[in-house]
Amino acid sequence: MSLLEVEDLVVQFYTEDGVVRAVDELSYEIERGEKYGIVGESGAGKSVTSLSLMQLIESPGEIVSGEIRFKGQNLLELSESELRDIRGNDIAMVFQDAETALNPVYSVGEQIAEAIRTHKDVTDEEAKEETIELLERVGIPDASARYSDYPHEFSGGMQQRAVIAMALSCDPDLLICDEPTTALDVTIEAQILELLDELASDFDTAIQLITHDLGVVAELCDRVMVLYAGQAVERAPVEELYYEPKHPYTVGLMASIPRIGDEREELTTIPGAMPDLIDVPTGCRFHPRCPYAEDVCMKREPPLMDTDEEVVADDAENTDHVASCHEYTGELATGLDYDIDVR
Ligand code: SF4
Ligand code: MG
Repeated sequence: MSLLEVEDLVVQFYTEDGVVRAVDELSYEIERGEKYGIVGESGAGKSVTSLSLMQLIESPGEIVSGEIRFKGQNLLELSESELRDIRGNDIAMVFQDAETALNPVYSVGEQIAEAIRTHKDVTDEEAKEETIELLERVGIPDASARYSDYPHEFSGGMQQRAVIAMALSCDPDLLICDEPTTALDVTIEAQILELLDELASDFDTAIQLITHDLGVVAELCDRVMVLYAGQAVERAPVEELYYEPKHPYTVGLMASIPRIGDEREELTTIPGAMPDLIDVPTGCRFHPRCPYAEDVCMKREPPLMDTDEEVVADDAENTDHVASCHEYTGELATGLDYDIDVR
């Protein structure tokens, strides 16, 4: 049994213009201690997926169907109080904007100590000691002196470290990080990713990392799923995705990563934009942007397939490398001939 098993998740938003299917039959699983990346452009469904796990989808949004099993238990069947328990103790979240995650009127230390006291039966003194240990652990220098500092006295990177300390205070099994380094500069970003990596192994915490940045995934993750228009288009161990991306969309994303020594004036970007999720393209959703599209792509939706054999991936299983493209259903006449150098 995996730590997290998401199966056929469908999330819709009801708008004046129509029904937006933000997440459409999405399945994936995360193992204990695994670092799992979810990548895509904005609007692909990454954040909606994360919020669904915590059941924080607000009206006019709704989880329509599917299962979210955490340690075997379907979270969609729990009561509000059982959910609150899971949110506090088993699954924690770290968002992009550390500043808004911290309350400006309490000191950083007090906030973390308060979080500890809500989860554990400890004295104020013990909560304070534990807070200082956690702050040290996430790399806040001079942690006991900084305990009483207010959030605005911390730099952006230190605020994010404090938020991570708070998330870890309940010793979660799963830490959901939604664009945790997007607001930070490159040096600080690298430090935070290194910290997350260490913490995942020290605390045996699984990480679900949501990002638009494939570079960030490469730094941290074991496996990755690429989302496009609410669906998974490719899932693979991270190295395979980098060296051998299989879906034309992933290849396009790869080509748009800036590389050291790159002399191209302009980075290759994928032409066009993510489709309107009220009215998704027929067949393969990527076809309006895909340089390899053929007739079949407009007619039939390609399922996720094992990329080595022409076998439809059973989404409930941990298939190694899958992609949804007619190349792998054997239905493309011309086939894919990537002319970009992905490495
Ligand atoms: Fe492109 Fe067709 Fe493959 Fe879709 S199925 S990614 S349109 S080649
Ligand atoms: Mg987002």
